[in-house]
Amino acid sequence: QVAGVDAAHANEYFELFVNATSMKHILGYYRGLVDSLHLRPNVFNQFYPKLRANLTSWRAKALLKKFDSRAAHKCYLKGKVAANTRVLVIGGGPCGMRTAIEAQLLGAKVVVVEKRDRFSRNNVLHLWPFVIEDLRMLGAKKFFGKFCAGAIDHISIRQLQCILLKVALLLGIEVHTELSFENLVEPDPDKKIGWRAAFKPSNHPVSQYEFDVVIGADGKRNTLQGFSRKEFRGKLAIAITANFINKKTEAEACVEEISGVAFIFNQKFFKDLQEATKIDLENIVYYKDDTHYFVMTAKKHSLIQKGVIKQDFSDTERLLAPENVDKEALQNYAIEAANFSTNYQMPNLDFAVNHYGQPDVAMFDFTSMYAAENASKVVERHGCRLLKILVGDSLLEPFWPTGSGCARGFLSALDAAWAIRSWSMGTASPLDTIAERESIYRLLAQTTPDNLNKDWKSYTLDPVTRYPNLNRAVVLPHQVVCLYDTDNPASIERMKRSYNEKPNEIPKKRRRGNVDNEVLLNWLKDQLKDKEEICITDMDSVFKDGKVLCAIIHHYRPDLLDYSAINSNDSAVNNQIAIDVLEKDLCVPPVMTGSELTITEDYLTLATYLTEIYDCFRGEIP
Ligand code: FAD
Repeated sequence: QVAGVDAAHANEYFELFVNATSMKHILGYYRGLVDSLHLRPNVFNQFYPKLRANLTSWRAKALLKKFDSRAAHKCYLKGKVAANTRVLVIGGGPCGMRTAIEAQLLGAKVVVVEKRDRFSRNNVLHLWPFVIEDLRMLGAKKFFGKFCAGAIDHISIRQLQCILLKVALLLGIEVHTELSFENLVEPDPDKKIGWRAAFKPSNHPVSQYEFDVVIGADGKRNTLQGFSRKEFRGKLAIAITANFINKKTEAEACVEEISGVAFIFNQKFFKDLQEATKIDLENIVYYKDDTHYFVMTAKKHSLIQKGVIKQDFSDTERLLAPENVDKEALQNYAIEAANFSTNYQMPNLDFAVNHYGQPDVAMFDFTSMYAAENASKVVERHGCRLLKILVGDSLLEPFWPTGSGCARGFLSALDAAWAIRSWSMGTASPLDTIAERESIYRLLAQTTPDNLNKDWKSYTLDPVTRYPNLNRAVVLPHQVVCLYDTDNPASIERMKRSYNEKPNEIPKKRRRGNVDNEVLLNWLKDQLKDKEEICITDMDSVFKDGKVLCAIIHHYRPDLLDYSAINSNDSAVNNQIAIDVLEKDLCVPPVMTGSELTITEDYLTLATYLTEIYDCFRGEIP
């Protein structure tokens, strides 16, 4: 034990800290805990061993054992890999925190800034199996006994944030709340000051913090400058989320959940719903969690018919503008849908309250979804280099109703930490680091629970433990020169020269994708113009028919697929034939099954898959 510390009090604070359920209490008890031990958040090796030596309860020991086993993994090199790296994480959402935890285990100095003063998001996240395993290994169950018990595979965003904040703090990460990142501040060579950031409020001590890695994890609006985004436009998709108070009565306990994936096929239900209530939905999910959480995709005409949307506009922004939405009608719409879909077994649905103390029901537009064109960049000013990486929703916007947000977000967090590791080790050049990061990013939008490595326990930072089809060199260093912004042309020229000496390594077909839907659709139309039976109008039509994928494979590679033998009217079967050939013979990994392709509304994944196919064939002679 460290002399002069009050270990008894520290253990008392630890119990309160572990049980705390709000940001304010977690931070308050943590302060009590570290003050009793004369500790301050610090790099892992300076902080954690001292904390560990003083926490003696069985509960603490059980939890810290989990941290020990994680920290002992060889990829962290005993917390020394990133000993000279200083990281700023913008945003204390699940993905910012998850990235921060990995960076801390690598031995970096990590500071997280979060603009909110409390965790108030009731909405519930669907968790892929690897995320559940990942959180279990971080001790989630010790903080929240009910964590994914039995077949439950979801958690409220609020609860998840509480768990991750506790893990982060116990590892020594410095977390500042009610502090909003504004912009980066360039180094000042005269004062020998490196990269810093400006915050709101402006006089905060964190504005003195100098760092060499910045993680953009502030959600879909992304305030970290310098990243452009590509837009994926699907057909109009309006999602409604609603949270009702879970009074935990016996009657509520009996109501069955509705898992989205299974429900999507239940066409009869949607017909009955429409007949009974005039509510027309494309899908609905119900999770019983801290709240009763419903998320549904509603058709515009029924929202108009039910008076939720006051006036029809073709422009979605005007359509869903607050002044065009009748809040009370929206609440009634959500209640009716929730009641019908749970067979009217839910007694008295009362809305939970949102961040603003209002009934927690909201309507979101998913017609356009965004993905960053690049996952990482380097900027160099006055000899100071800064690695910028995006993670979570800032990197790739998820389609909530199918629940991919947190899973892909966590993958991006682990990938970001892998890049921090490479950056810190100094054995790779900055261009190597960002080229590898970009190569790995190419896989992200295609990931599904089924095409990831199933051995979740073996997942580490190393992407090879997670992605079976990993090719770290899809993007080569000389191809990412444009992602290296410097005021010193000599440094980039030096790196460029060394890469230009290896022209044979340039892969022929693979390129960084920035292909918008129109280009993809026009390419297909053009290539398949001789096939009269094929009609391509939009992204849906490519996968609904089932023959388009077969036709394009046959067009370029008639040796792989006999198009004249494709005579099934079952589009799912046709899609599956194409998916199998693409995977087996052309190394295009599947993103869904043939039948899922025909019904999904995850246009981002569809566009990414089509981009892979386009990349595979483009430039080939048919
Ligand atoms: P977020 O969870 O968005 O976290 C970003 C964090 O950054 C926030 O805490 C924010 O306060 C903070 N921040 C923003 N700007 C700054 C700044 N300038 N400085 C400092 N901090 C900043 N997914 C689902 O699957 N189902 C849902 O129903 C669902 N509902 C959602 C409702 C809302 C209101 C939001 C914002 C997201 C929702 N999501 C939902 C998405 C889901 O929350 C994310 O996919 C998941 O939380 C991972 O996100 P993240 O950590 O990348 O970003």
